[in-house]
Order: sequence, then structure tokens, then C-alpha cells
Amino acid sequence: MIYKFKGNFGTLELIAEADGKARGTYQKNGILEGYWSENSFSGQWTNQGMEGLVRFTVSEGKLEGNWKKGKDVGTMKGSWKGDLLSKEKVSETTKVVEDIISVANSPSEQPLKGKLEELYDAENYSGVLALFNENEAELVENEDIVHKYLFSMWFHGDLEEETFERIREFEDKFNTNRWLKLKGYYYSCKKWYDSALEAFKDTSERHYLLAKKKFDDYYALHEEEKYLEVIKYFESELRSSISDRTLKVAEIYCQALYMDSDTERKALEKIRAFRKRYPEHQPFTKQNGRFASYIGGRDLAIEMIEEGLDCFKKIKDERNITKTKELISETKNKIKAQILTEKIAARERAAADKRAAKEAAAEEKRREREALAAQKQADRAAEAEAKLSQHRFKNSRGLRFCQFCGFEQQFAGAICDTRSANHNFVLLKERYSGELTPTCNKCGQEYNYAGSTCE
Ligand SMILES: [Zn+2]
Ligand SMILES: [Zn+2]
Repeated sequence: MIYKFKGNFGTLELIAEADGKARGTYQKNGILEGYWSENSFSGQWTNQGMEGLVRFTVSEGKLEGNWKKGKDVGTMKGSWKGDLLSKEKVSETTKVVEDIISVANSPSEQPLKGKLEELYDAENYSGVLALFNENEAELVENEDIVHKYLFSMWFHGDLEEETFERIREFEDKFNTNRWLKLKGYYYSCKKWYDSALEAFKDTSERHYLLAKKKFDDYYALHEEEKYLEVIKYFESELRSSISDRTLKVAEIYCQALYMDSDTERKALEKIRAFRKRYPEHQPFTKQNGRFASYIGGRDLAIEMIEEGLDCFKKIKDERNITKTKELISETKNKIKAQILTEKIAARERAAADKRAAKEAAAEEKRREREALAAQKQADRAAEAEAKLSQHRFKNSRGLRFCQFCGFEQQFAGAICDTRSANHNFVLLKERYSGELTPTCNKCGQEYNYAGSTCE
């Protein structure tokens, strides 16, 4: 059977085969493919390079269904609504796809278009977006409506990337440059001021001047030689605005980095990166040459000066080639002299170390000697102390007794109690018995009566 419908999708002609397969055409290039069963269609659509799923049912002459973008299974938010115009057997119909009425002229679209314009004029941008998304299949064919849709996306906010993507999509679709200004907004918001400048050149004088001011302010800082401010300004505002037309901006940045002694190395790194991106831009190569040869000369780094020489050779800068070659030989001499100085210094350091070691050894010895002497003295004192408590035995007439306490060796204890008393015992006859008894010849006391002092 061949079914003809008319609805928010335009005009649809659907051919349902006996085996259940169905194929349809709608709008200018829209195609449906799927299955027809019990007055329901289920399948896929492709239109204007996009594709998705669609499903609808016909009941009492009315078509109702839903569609979505993309072939993944999911919620179908878009709606298809229409009327059944005719239903004929295949053999009785002549299929002329070109006959399908263009959607732009379809009267069924007009209320939607009017509604969208109303929302747009009322600055109800989320309303515009909702209406457009609901009825995209229909509204997407009208460039003026798309125009209002894109601006609504932008004014709605938070949809910058999506807006830009859709601009490019619709630029291709309608083969137009109409949204250049809108692209300029996007570029400004991304701080791509070089692209913004181009976009606004013929579309908005006010915005063109705003973008131009970004560069003018920067050039002014450079003129005034405010290097730190140039660096800060570039890094916060212009770092993403470098393209063929604005290479001067990068040159100024690198020069400013180079002028400040804290950022010379960074200047070299940055200019190397820019040169990599724009190998044919001679000012970059020259800057690379100047920075590398200067830092190499200062730090005695030959390979860095050679990097500089290669740069100057590349741009055939004869004056700098000569200068840099001289710098290389000067630097080589400096390195030699430095090595010599280092050798001498090393020798001096070694001699000083030796002296210090000798002194330390002598000092160590002196300390050892002192310690030894102190030890000896302590030993002697201890010995003297010990002596004070020792007996001193002597022999006299067959008797062996202590000179200090008078006790015979076999009766004397371990300690001589009266040593410090200074008695001097000798054998004398005991007064009464006449027996030989140790008696102090100084105080006259017999040993067993002798006191702790000799008096
Ligand atoms: Zn004794
Ligand atoms: Zn005595």
C-alpha cells in the first residue's frame, strides 16, 4: 500500500510491502526505512546528513508518533503529528517523489514559525530552544528560524560550545556566512581575539573596535617598555590569539620575557615553541638565535650558542653568524681558563686539607698524652691511698711484724689500722716480763696498747 500523510514533518509518502517492510520519503531528502504492521510504523530516518529513530501509529486518519536523533535506543522526545491524505494500492499509484511539497511552503509550519518568532521577540530564549528542539525536523529547513534559534542559544548562555558547533553545521547546510558575527562573540568569549577581529571586521564596528583594543593596549605597554605588564597581559588575555596575522604579539611577549633577567630561560623555551609552530617566520628564528647565543655565552654552554648559530644560518644573517662564531671561540677559551682555575683551586684545596689533617693528628696526640698523664697521676694517688692501709712487715730476731701496727704477720688483718698514726715498732724487752715485744720507739707504747696517734 502507499500511504500519503501531511503533518509537522512535511509530506510523507510511505510504501508498505506485503512482507511488512516499509520505505518512505519526506521533505526534500528525508528517508524512512523500517516495518509496517497493524497500522504502525517503526524504523529509522535519515535527513540532511543526520539520522535517528522514528515510530508512529495511524488511527482514524490521524498519524501520531515520536522521533529522536541518533540510532541508540532511548527516549523519543520529538513528536510527529499529521493526517492521512490517501491510501492506495501500489499498482494504482504513480510514485513521484519530486512532487512532495517543500516544507518551507507547508502551511502547517506557519503557526510554529510564528510562535517561535513571538518567543524570540519576547526574549524567551529557553522557550525558543524548547520549541525548536521539539520540532527540529520541520523548523530546521528555514534559515531565518535557524538564525533566531542560534542567537537564542547564544543569549541563553552556557551553551557556547553547542552554539558554535551548530553554527558550523548550519553554515554548511545553508552555505552561508550569515553567522560570522555570532562566531565573533564565540571567539571573544574564548579570547581568540585574532579570529574575533576577522569575524567583526565587516559585521560589527563596535565589536571590531573592542577586539582591536585588546591588541592596541598590549602594543602600548610594549612601547612604554613595561615588560612585566606585557608578560602578564599576554598570559591572561592574548595567549590564545596567536595566528599568522598576529605573530608580532608573540614576538613582543618573548622579547619582554628576555628583557627580564628572571625569565630569560623562559623566553628561550617560548620562542623555541613558537618557532616550531611557525618555522618559516624569520623574526622567531632570529629571536631564537639571539636568546640562545646570549644565554649560552653567559653560562658557557657551547651547544646553546651553536643552536643560536644554526638559527642565524637559517636566515642567512651574516653579521650575527660572524659574531656568534667569535662568541663560540671566546667561550671555548673561557671554558679552558675556567678548567685551569678549577684545577689550581682543587690543588690548593687538597694542600689545605692535608695541613688540616696534620694539625688534627697532632692535636689528637697531645690530647692522648694529657689523658695518659692524668691517668698516671690518678693511679699514683690511688696507689698512695692504698699504701696508707698496708702493713709493712720486717724481720727481727726470728719475728716478722708490721712496723706501723706491730702485729705479727699471721695475726695482722688485711688492713693496717694505725698506719697513719706514724708509730715505729721495734722489738724491745717488755717492762715486766722482759719478753721481746713490738714497741713504738717514738711513743714507747706496746703494739697492743698503741693508740691512733703516736704521741
Ligand atoms: Zn701494721
Ligand atoms: Zn709511737
